[in-house]
Amino acid sequence: MSRLRLILGDQLNPRHSWFAETRPDVHYVMMEIRQETDYVLHHAQKLLAIFAAMRDFVGKLERAGHRIHYLRIDDPRNTQSLTANLDGLIAELPADRLEYQEPDEWRLDRQLRRYGETLTIHCISADSEHFLTKRDEAGRLFEGRRQWLMEHFYRRLRQRHGVLMETASRPVGGRWNFDTENRKAWPGQPAVPPDVRIQHDHGPLWKDIVAAGVRNFGDPRAERLAWPLHRDEALMQIDAFIDQGLPHFGDYQDAMSSRSWRLFHSLLSFALNVKMLDPREVIGKAEQAYREGRAPLAAVEGFIRQILGWREYVRGVYWARMPGHAEQNVFQHTRPLPAWFWTGETRLRCLAQAIGQSLEQAYAHHSQRLMIIGNFALLAGQDPAAVHRWYLGVYIDAFEWVELPNTLGMSLYADGGLLATKPYVSSAAYIGRMSDYCKGCHYDRKARIGERACPFNALYWDFFARHAPLLSGNPRLGMVYRQLAKLSKDDREAISGQSDRIRARLDDL
Ligand SMILES: Cc1cc2nc3c(=O)[nH]c(=O)nc-3n(C[C@H](O)[C@H](O)[C@H](O)COP(=O)(O)OP(=O)(O)OC[C@H]3O[C@@H](n4cnc5c(N)ncnc54)[C@H](O)[C@@H]3O)c2cc1C
Ligand code: SF4
Repeated sequence: MSRLRLILGDQLNPRHSWFAETRPDVHYVMMEIRQETDYVLHHAQKLLAIFAAMRDFVGKLERAGHRIHYLRIDDPRNTQSLTANLDGLIAELPADRLEYQEPDEWRLDRQLRRYGETLTIHCISADSEHFLTKRDEAGRLFEGRRQWLMEHFYRRLRQRHGVLMETASRPVGGRWNFDTENRKAWPGQPAVPPDVRIQHDHGPLWKDIVAAGVRNFGDPRAERLAWPLHRDEALMQIDAFIDQGLPHFGDYQDAMSSRSWRLFHSLLSFALNVKMLDPREVIGKAEQAYREGRAPLAAVEGFIRQILGWREYVRGVYWARMPGHAEQNVFQHTRPLPAWFWTGETRLRCLAQAIGQSLEQAYAHHSQRLMIIGNFALLAGQDPAAVHRWYLGVYIDAFEWVELPNTLGMSLYADGGLLATKPYVSSAAYIGRMSDYCKGCHYDRKARIGERACPFNALYWDFFARHAPLLSGNPRLGMVYRQLAKLSKDDREAISGQSDRIRARLDDL
């Protein structure tokens, strides 16, 4: 009798304890299935990068002596269903035990649990070993609280793991958080780091995906795909980032520019989310750079906060709020996405840049996702579930456990403020300050009313006016509501009329 172990497409960690020894009775299975390509409409690069990395991973396991069953998308034995493929293999081997690593997606977790209950053989879920916290940790920590402050969670983890600590309770530099120093616009200098990623020709794989009929969107870049294929490439990427990007990461973390699509961001989220990299090693390398004087504390703290803080925290929020998280819609917004979300063709220059780049690179950095695309989606009243599906499909790093709390909670405030202390929205003033997008835009960033007025301006004030019953009591919005109160009746009516006109022609902006 054999033991069958399932490896999912986002579990490409060659250092998992499963692989410490090779055993003749242990068989591994991986599969390229329509169930996983089709649960949302995916960017072509995401499909390609995951399948290419899976194929590379399986080759390495085979060479290390492990017994692998790999079902390609075009394999006639492939039923395209996770559980039907498992049924076939369990019978064929035969296997008396099925093991899987804890999936990170609620959808797959539920499917495998239910499937396990139907089996007559043992079915065991193993620790995925991929995070610093357990799934339920944030839920337990914040139980009964109305607001779940990331900062509280982050400080506990800093102490527990001794990250950037001087003593057991004192953070290095005497401060936990250097966020206030990390808000500069990028004037064009210092130069952004070169893109060191290796380009791969995945033309044949792309043909397989297309021939299988998988629907997709975005530029496939099949002959020059630059997302890492395996751990060694990802490690090379971290080292290059630490040398050249990290020293400036803090300063320009929130900046946006039409002259650089990634600025000083690491581009590591794909490698982290498919588990080629362990968050502990990325944190460790960043801290080491600080200790060796290669990067300033504000930059290193800012970077570590994203991984040790935000990444672990949103995962905890996801597991605490599922199922049902995706249905939250506190503002009752229902508008569909404008057609230009799929083409980038709009006269709103900031959105043309951020969406155009997302379609081209399968990537946008945090400020573009939050303060351009998400900002507009919230102000324009777009349906959070549709926005969520778009984000889940378009980004190379999008997996529901991390995408959903970021989109629905942080960006759209659809959970009513569990994650965010106030909605992340802005008028054109902020976008103009943090980017060069407004220069050369069809719209006038200073105008609020009129044909050429920047739509963000009227929509911003209209958003707060419309949602006053929900938001005006929020102490962090006191200033906004005081300013709103100072507007004359005529001004308010003009804003409301302008916003109605904008919303009525979103496709034509
Ligand atoms: C609306 C919205 C949707 C998002 N969807 C995703 C998603 O699907 N997948 C995803 O990995 N991140 C998501 N993020 C978080 C963040 O934008 C990306 O992690 C980041 O842009 C990835 O690029 P990078 O590797 O260059 O990150 P860097 O800016 O270099 O940051 C380093 C690492 O920190 C982690 N990180 C940073 N911010 C966050 C965050 N808010 N939540 C979790 N981890 C974070 C990532 O692992 C990232 O690789 C989303 C943010 C927003 C506002
Ligand atoms: S003027 Fe408005 S639409 Fe144009 S780039 Fe600036 S913020 Fe975006």
